[in-house]
Amino acid sequence: MSRRVFIILLYIIFTLATTWQVVTLTRDWTLRTLHQQGSDELLKVITQLRGALDQYRYLPFLISQDTDVKELMLGFTESKGDEVSLYLEQTNLVAGSSSLFVLNAHGKPIAYSHWRDERDFFLRLHQDQDYYRQALAGHRGRQFSLNAESQSPAYFLSSPIYDGKRFTGVAVVRIELEKLISQLRSFGVVLLSDENDQLFFSTGPFQRFSQLGTQIKSRQENLTDGITTELWEQSEGNWLVRGVSLDDLQWRVTLLQDLDVVQRNVRNASLFSFGGCIALGLMVLLFRERQLKIRSQNETREALAASEAQQKAIINNAQVGLLLIDSKGCITFANEMALQQFAASAPLLMHKPLLDLLSSEGVSPIQRLLSRLDHKGFSPLIGFEAVAVRGDGTEFPIMLSIRQMLALVERQYLVTIIDISRRKGLELQLKRANESLEHKVEERTQALQEAQDELVQAGKMAAIGRMSTAVVHELNQPLTAIRNYVAICRQMLQQPEMLSESLTEVDELTQRMAQITSQLKTFAYRKPEQMEKVSVQMAVNNALHLFRQRFIDDGFQVDLDLPEPTVYVLGDSARLEQVLLNLIKNALDAMQGFDHKQIAIQVDAVDDKVRVTVVDSGPGIDMDLLPDLFEPFVTSKSIGDGLGLGLSIVRSIVRDLNGEISAENQTGGGACFRVILPQSK
Ligand code: ADP
Repeated sequence: MSRRVFIILLYIIFTLATTWQVVTLTRDWTLRTLHQQGSDELLKVITQLRGALDQYRYLPFLISQDTDVKELMLGFTESKGDEVSLYLEQTNLVAGSSSLFVLNAHGKPIAYSHWRDERDFFLRLHQDQDYYRQALAGHRGRQFSLNAESQSPAYFLSSPIYDGKRFTGVAVVRIELEKLISQLRSFGVVLLSDENDQLFFSTGPFQRFSQLGTQIKSRQENLTDGITTELWEQSEGNWLVRGVSLDDLQWRVTLLQDLDVVQRNVRNASLFSFGGCIALGLMVLLFRERQLKIRSQNETREALAASEAQQKAIINNAQVGLLLIDSKGCITFANEMALQQFAASAPLLMHKPLLDLLSSEGVSPIQRLLSRLDHKGFSPLIGFEAVAVRGDGTEFPIMLSIRQMLALVERQYLVTIIDISRRKGLELQLKRANESLEHKVEERTQALQEAQDELVQAGKMAAIGRMSTAVVHELNQPLTAIRNYVAICRQMLQQPEMLSESLTEVDELTQRMAQITSQLKTFAYRKPEQMEKVSVQMAVNNALHLFRQRFIDDGFQVDLDLPEPTVYVLGDSARLEQVLLNLIKNALDAMQGFDHKQIAIQVDAVDDKVRVTVVDSGPGIDMDLLPDLFEPFVTSKSIGDGLGLGLSIVRSIVRDLNGEISAENQTGGGACFRVILPQSK
């Protein structure tokens, strides 16, 4: 569980616990207050009730002492009775009681305050009533009568009437309860019930003249300070109950106080408590936020100060010159390195135009850029090489960059200056070293070339030396034959017709000798100094042209595959044709005596190379010869048929043309020679 969640949970628990505690205390306090108020109220109600009753207490005695009343008791006459009734009527009005009447010694009414309207009253005997009996016994009587039928409970006070010591009757005052109670002032509901729990008076929503216990649900509740209070629940409301039994009246007075105030207080208290807790929480949060903000501000301030100090240190220790210029191109700041570079003091550089620090040579791009400062068209200048002027007038090469400082409110531009004198010096040295190296390499290459040429020539001369045996042998044969033929010719001078035949033989033999020497001449030649563009297609066609008669005579099939357009190589046409002549001749020689004689020549250009392939349908190259095929005097032919120089000459020419040659046997039979030369475009 994260710390934050834990704190929130703790806060919720605290809020709930506090609210619960406050609610409990408020409820208890309100109930106790109500309980106390109830006691006071109840006392007031009882005092008022008793006061109200007491104001009529004197009335029966007053009537019993009246002389007219006494006279009437002694001898009843109709007129006397009416006279007393009139008196009672007036007294009743003055006293504010409900009615006044006088009973004779037998409990029969003989005078009545309401004698005019209620004549029936005189017919009813009252000897069973307590107020009569008590008076008969010589006491002041009092009685509470419920009279549920008329639903007018009333209180009776009586006083005996004596003639001397003889009991002559009873004076009675009747006070209706409504009258009494109307004077009661209370803050709650007042209930009056008799000793049988019969409710006969209520200022609240209770059913009168029925058992009070059936109308309510009672429970006890213990409050703090050892107080136990009684609470009633009823459909119309909930009440706190305070009651007392008045033994003399045999009444029970109950005061009910509405518990709405408790609920209201509890609701308010819970709201206040809850709101208070929330407010407290918010205040704590606010305080904490404020603390955090202050801390963060302090940290930011410290970090800014540290960063500023660091930046200052970086700027001052930077190994490049840093200048700040304003939108007019004037210097507003120069770091240590810049002061060193320009050999000037800070006050000297301040407010000086940047252009004054630069040599006028090649400065126009900077001028253009400075004129666009503070304009939309401004774009930074990076790594521009220029010449700067020191305070003492000496110049030094620099690399300069100008870019806008976006972080600043006021537009400023950062000028970075790197002294490149050292680099320039090194560059110069390097250039010189390169030039001298190139010169040396050229010299050495030329020497090597010459040496190689010498070597090649020497190799060729050695080869010629080695060749001489074969040449001697080759030339000896025709020379011997020529000598023989010459001798024969001398003898034949007498027979001139035979002479021509022998001379023809001599001619052929000399031609053969010339062929041998011409081949040797080619081999001994150096490669030409000047190379020219030679059409490969043309060289192939020229070579084939020389063999055209032989193709026809011996029935060779020639397959030619030449590309479009013309491809060129650098060389000389005679030598390229000689390569092709040798390869074609070898192929034709190899196929001699074979039924199927086919030669295929293909030229194709691949990337920057030209490939010439000569394939024949002959027996293929002797496997013993293959490894040394291109060495001089490697031949399978008998002496007189071949010298073994052809392919050696071919390789020599191909190499002179910067190309390569390879030979292989085809799987289906026949030899394949492949010449690859660099293409000239
Ligand atoms: P020469 O033709 O005088 O023998 P070359 O150097 O031209 O000398 O050839 C060397 C040898 O290579 C030939 O004797 C022959 O045996 C072999 N050779 C060359 N071309 C072919 C070919 N097309 N088919 C078979 N063998 C070949």
